[in-house]
Amino acid sequence: MAQRKEHPRTPILIVGGGPVGSLLALSLSHFHQASTLVEASTTTTRWPKMEQINGRTMEVLRILGLADKLRSVDGVPKADAPWTVLHHTGLGDPVPEFARVDPHLSLKEEKKLDQQHNDGTRTSEHHQRCVLDIFESFLKTEVLRNENVTSHYGMKYLSHIENENGVSTICIDKEGNEHEFTSNYLVGCDGAGSRVRRNTGIKLKGGPINIGAYLVHFRSEELLELEKKTYGRFWHLNTHGIGCLVDQDESGTFTIHNFGPHVLQEDVTKYDPEELIYRILGGAFGKPFKIKIDEILVHSAYRPNFAVVKSFISEKGRVVLAGDSAHRQPPHGALGFNSGAHEQLDLAWKLSALVQGYGGLHLLDAYALERKYIVLQNLIHATELARTFTDYTVQYLTTGPQILDPANAERQRLADLVRGISIERAADGVEFDRRLTHSRAIVRDIDGSQSPLWDVDKYQPSSAPGSRVPHLWLKTKIGETSTIDLISHGLTLVCFEPFYQSTSEQAKAVFLSVAAKRNIPLHVVVLKDESRVRSVWEDRDLVLVRPDAYSLWRSQNQSQQPITSEDYIQEIFDVALGVKEAEKRKTIPTEPTEEDLMVEFAEKMKVVGAEDTEGGMGEVKFVAGFQVEVE
Ligand SMILES: Cc1cc2nc3c(=O)[nH]c(=O)nc-3n(C[C@H](O)[C@H](O)[C@H](O)COP(=O)(O)OP(=O)(O)OC[C@H]3O[C@@H](n4cnc5c(N)ncnc54)[C@H](O)[C@@H]3O)c2cc1C
Repeated sequence: MAQRKEHPRTPILIVGGGPVGSLLALSLSHFHQASTLVEASTTTTRWPKMEQINGRTMEVLRILGLADKLRSVDGVPKADAPWTVLHHTGLGDPVPEFARVDPHLSLKEEKKLDQQHNDGTRTSEHHQRCVLDIFESFLKTEVLRNENVTSHYGMKYLSHIENENGVSTICIDKEGNEHEFTSNYLVGCDGAGSRVRRNTGIKLKGGPINIGAYLVHFRSEELLELEKKTYGRFWHLNTHGIGCLVDQDESGTFTIHNFGPHVLQEDVTKYDPEELIYRILGGAFGKPFKIKIDEILVHSAYRPNFAVVKSFISEKGRVVLAGDSAHRQPPHGALGFNSGAHEQLDLAWKLSALVQGYGGLHLLDAYALERKYIVLQNLIHATELARTFTDYTVQYLTTGPQILDPANAERQRLADLVRGISIERAADGVEFDRRLTHSRAIVRDIDGSQSPLWDVDKYQPSSAPGSRVPHLWLKTKIGETSTIDLISHGLTLVCFEPFYQSTSEQAKAVFLSVAAKRNIPLHVVVLKDESRVRSVWEDRDLVLVRPDAYSLWRSQNQSQQPITSEDYIQEIFDVALGVKEAEKRKTIPTEPTEEDLMVEFAEKMKVVGAEDTEGGMGEVKFVAGFQVEVE
């Protein structure tokens, strides 16, 4: 007879061992915090639902000591792998290409630039091609060997009851036995169909975009040969109007995405995966292009969505969401996992601070506020990319088969146009300059210094509270030790010596003594004569940094800040660690509020023809196995 097993209390129960849940368990461990992870499946995903990790996200892996390890895994494209996006009218077209764009440089080329430009405008890590099935199994290996993580694979979450002190969660294993876990916090990393979210009563706002998609993941040695010999190594091959081909590993594994409004009109159950590959390779106006296919790995229809939760946390504050359980992003700009990776790092340090007793009750409110704002900015950017590309596609399809004529003037115009459009990556401001614009868990400057206004297209390095502190290589360790590597598992006080203010030495001592009294892990880093770092970090004596590399507070050079007063330092820790909230920020027209962004998001969804639903998207048909709750 089926039995219910009670497990010892765990501080943090994570539901879902996809990329975000696995990374969360590893980040908690990095912050010296134990956790328990339950994952419904006994195997890792076979779906190629990620292909690029952006430079900022690679920095998250660097913080966790995983970036180099990932690059050494079989199947992860190596340092010379190109990011070339080849635009083509179809492989049957004798004209070799339509346009060619490189949204990024190869890692090898980036590393050369690292040596030349140590000026705060770059990241310590760079974009990495990596398909999700490889990434997920890499993370699972790390989870299994981590002593701070108790993992249960083949354990499905069913329900939970939350009260002020914690959560009681019921799961079921593959043999049908029930398991009860009690925890201080429950984190739903259970993906787009999140049952944790639905059981918590958290609604999603957003809906599916007016296009359908069908992917086929396959192996073909012949296509690999053709790529190398005829077209040159590429990452994406876009055959406009109907979809694209992705080279996943430079070793013969490819994915085609049949993508567009036409997919919604067709009977996808009748698709033959091989025929679909030929059709995408042949292009919208060419004949199907046949190649030898060695193996079809997986194939399915899916429906891109734009959506965000009303709140990242439950009303009682014990259930939290991260990753796709909290938002759905279309592929445009690759902001899905690349959002979740930062959420989990932020959540991990906050949960660790709470469980370890030095974090206050407002920390999770800060998490919810900070993350929702960033997700809304990401979604708005993704809708903009979708609109631009859809407009272009309409023009391309309207041109008709004459696009195949190399002398056609419209062909030339569209080729020029597409060189300026990138849906493969997000703009620099979106990828690199994520800010905690309205956070109430940072201590803002009082000397009137102005941070540069956020710009979607630019990364503007700054150490202002709420900005991610800039990466620079230390002067004797170019290409080796980054300022990001100095950040510890607790708070980090970066001291630039020699100090301008005579009181800074005293302030350093007070910080340490207050932190010791409150059991706050505070690490002091002294940077002597690092004038370049100091200048990019906007010339302060002291900068206090969060474990996820965001600036919390910095000393002001020209003001009457009482930096040696114990009360003042207590106040900084109170705000930074969620014991009390900073004043709500005055709204200024150039910095929209969350409400403004919600309005803009709703408007943008109309423009791209997305359905704007309230209250969950269970009614949406045409979803893939990886978009719904696991059975
Ligand atoms: C075609 C495609 C391409 C993409 N490309 C990119 C890209 O290049 N870059 C990028 O950043 N993002 C990309 N994304 C988005 C990316 O796939 C997701 O954002 C990412 O997988 C989200 O990770 P997650 O861990 O939150 O959720 P998931 O990957 O969905 O993982 C959720 C996990 O929870 C488990 N689970 C579910 N229910 C339960 C339950 N009841 N009990 C226990 N476990 C449960 C599931 O088995 C699964 O392992 C792409 C998406 C698609 C569809």
